[in-house]
Formats: sequence, C-alpha cells, structure tokens
Amino acid sequence: MALFVQKFGGTSVGTTERIEAVAEKVVGFRKAGHDVVVVVSAMSGETNRLIGLAEAIMEEPAPREMDVLVSTGEQVTMSLLSMALQKRGYAARSYTGSQVRIVTDNMHTKARIQHIDEQRIRTDLDAGRVVVVAGFQGVDDQGNITTLGRGGSDTTAVALAATLKANECQIYTDVDGVYTTDPRVVDSARRLSQITFEEMMEMASLGSKVLQIRAVEFAGKYNVPLRVLSSFEEGEGTLITFEDNNTMEQPVVSGIAFNRDEAKVTISGVPDTPGSALRILKPVSDANIGVDMIVQNVGEDNRTAFTFTVHRNDFKRALDVLQRVSDELGARGVSGDTKIAKVSIVGVGMRSHAGVATQMFEALSNEGINIQMISTSEIKISVVIDEKYLELAVRALHSTFELDKPGVEETL
Ligand code: ADP
Ligand code: ASP
Ligand code: MG
Repeated sequence: MALFVQKFGGTSVGTTERIEAVAEKVVGFRKAGHDVVVVVSAMSGETNRLIGLAEAIMEEPAPREMDVLVSTGEQVTMSLLSMALQKRGYAARSYTGSQVRIVTDNMHTKARIQHIDEQRIRTDLDAGRVVVVAGFQGVDDQGNITTLGRGGSDTTAVALAATLKANECQIYTDVDGVYTTDPRVVDSARRLSQITFEEMMEMASLGSKVLQIRAVEFAGKYNVPLRVLSSFEEGEGTLITFEDNNTMEQPVVSGIAFNRDEAKVTISGVPDTPGSALRILKPVSDANIGVDMIVQNVGEDNRTAFTFTVHRNDFKRALDVLQRVSDELGARGVSGDTKIAKVSIVGVGMRSHAGVATQMFEALSNEGINIQMISTSEIKISVVIDEKYLELAVRALHSTFELDKPGVEETL
C-alpha cells in the first residue's frame, strides 16, 4: 500500500462530469489499497474570471483582497470532488489551505510555503478517508489567506507530498506528460518518458507552464518523486528524475521552451563610467521589477546602450523608472518593445557538446530570423527574437535538434 498525492488541474476539473471522472480515478487507487490525498485547482477559466471581477472594480486591488477572492475557485472544486467521492461510497473530506494549515509568508499573490501541519490529514488518512485539499492557497501567521502565484496548485501538491513523505506526487493535466516542446504549438512534439530535475527547472523557468517552477524546485529539494500524466487517458506520463539514469546516449537538446511574457527596454547614450550598470538597475530593482536578460554595448564615443528584459506587466513602470534614470545620468533616451519572444533550448547533454549554439544560430538564420539578445548557461541557450517569428523558430529548432525523431530507447 502506497500514499499518493494527486493533483488535478483546471481542465481536469472543468465540469461536473470531469469532476466525477476524477472521482472514478481516485476510487481506482483506493480499491487497489492506496491512500490518496487529492489537490484540486479551480475549474478552468475560473481564476481568470475572478481576476476580471476585481479589475472591473478597480485597477490595482489590494493583494490581500485578491487572495481572498481568487482562493474561492479551489474551494468550489474541493467540495464538489468530495461529494463525488462520497456518492461512490468513499469517505472523503475537503479542506482549504487555511484549514489544513498550509502556513506561508505574507507575500500576498506570490506567497511561499513555510510549513504544513500534517496532523489533520494523517488522522483522516488513518480513518480511511480521502483528503481533498484546495490547491494554490495557504494562510499567513496572522490568519490572512494567501495564494502561491499562478499555477500554484502544483506547488501545493509537491509540498504536501514532501510533508507526508508520499510515494509519488502525480500531476494530472490535459496532456499526457512533458513534451519536447508545447504540443499545442508543434504537432510533432514528443512525450519524454523521463526528464531530469535540472532540465525541468530550466523548462519551467523559461516558459513551459506544464509545471510551476516552485513545484519543481520543491520536489528537487525534498526528493519528491514527481510524475506528470493525463487525466483523460491511461499512461505512464513523464517521470522527473534526479539523475539521468538512462544509460543510453543522452540527447544534446531535450526540450524547447518559449514565452511571450517579456518586454525589452533600452537606455542609450549612457556615459560609460564605473557604476553605470548599478545606477540603472538599482532603481529598477527598488521598484520591485525583476530583470531577466541584460545586454550592454559600448560605442566608440564612450557611451553605452543598455538593454534588458522585464515582465510585460512591468513594462510601463520600467520605462518610467528608466526615463528618470536617463535624465539623471544625462543619457540620450529610452525606448522599448513589447513584441518580443524568448526561445530557449534546454539539455544536460549540452555540457559535453561544443557547437550547439552555432547550430541554433544557423537554424534561425536559415529562416531569416534576427536574434536580438542571447543568454547562455551550462544547460540552456536563450535568444530573444521578434514575437511574430516565435512559432517558426520553435519548429525550426525542434527539427534541427531532431526532437521529432524517436529517442534511442524508443527505437530499440
Ligand atoms: P493544468 O491546468 O492542468 O495545471 P496547465 O495549462 O497549467 O495545466 O499545463 C498544461 C499545459 O502546458 C498543456 O496544455 C500544454 O499546452 C502546456 N505546455 C507547455 N509546454 C509544455 C511541454 N513541454 N510539455 C507539455 N505541455 C506543455
Ligand atoms: N487556479 C490557479 C491558477 O489558475 C492555480 C492553479 O490552477 O494551479 O493559476
Ligand atoms: Mg498548471
């Protein structure tokens, strides 16, 4: 007998019929003698609908009230699933994050889990109940409701699995695993039977929203066996592995991630003196704006152009901050572009292969795609390009790195 934490995403609980189907799946595990803790998301579209209601009232609602509002979505699904289980003769109880006591810090809308009380859940499991927990939410030490950021139910599930020392944390979603790239963009994308934590962390942080990055981080830190599978069909899904235990030759590139969430800002004609990067970036970070890629070019006139990317939601604020900095530094001016996209190739195999970047740049050049910015690490290369070429770029890279061909283990 094993203990599974099973998380069902928005589409998987999008209608009452689907909630009944989830109940059937959970019952299957109970019949096999396993203990189950279920984490549910809000019904698909519900979190966005709630955010829309708030925005109809005011432009920037207080984060505390936003959390009270958006946490209600999960409360609906947890109770409906519990009823669907009870209808089938299985004892079940649902709990909000606050009832379990999933204790977080007080950073509303992006809180971090600090501690989970396991007593209540243990008592229910020992009494033979299925425990259904609302994903995405917790409570701070003052009793305020908090939420964990978009996609945060994945993190609730992994944190519960870590606390309860579950045998596996299973993330059920609307695709049957982690693919070489988003299967909704590239038809020939293939499901990976396994992917390393390192690669999954990069994929998640570079835009593959199949798993929330914090969930992957948590699973890596607490050694939680993590699997992504389909809610709608049987299958083994994708196992996130601690090490590459595949003895076959590792592919150089395992996956391609992309996102359209960023915007680019440039301050040009900045006098090139020690401390100029600090004087540009400090006010940006003081305004709580995160910076991703940075490029600096020094011109012949001893003035530099400084370009960096920020989240699109922060674009206008970033421009305002930079305008101020530009006036102070006597720079020539600021400009920006929101129509950019970031495409990244990811793979632990890159460590032992030279020339991967050249191959990437050649593939993009063959399609006539201009590269605006580049950043690299040991296991990833990211480029910023014009948003309109995003899909073309992803497809070209997918075929250049032969991701549409079956892997070695599949051909044996
Ligand atoms: P859920 O509501 O179940 O949490 P999400 O929408 O958050 O589901 O995540 C699943 C989606 O992630 C898929 O529908 C798919 O379009 C997208 N996705 C992006 N990149 C990948 C990838 N590499 N592999 C699988 N799915 C991906
Ligand atoms: N319902 C939340 C969201 O849409 C959390 C989640 O689904 O993971 O972001
Ligand atoms: Mg999700």
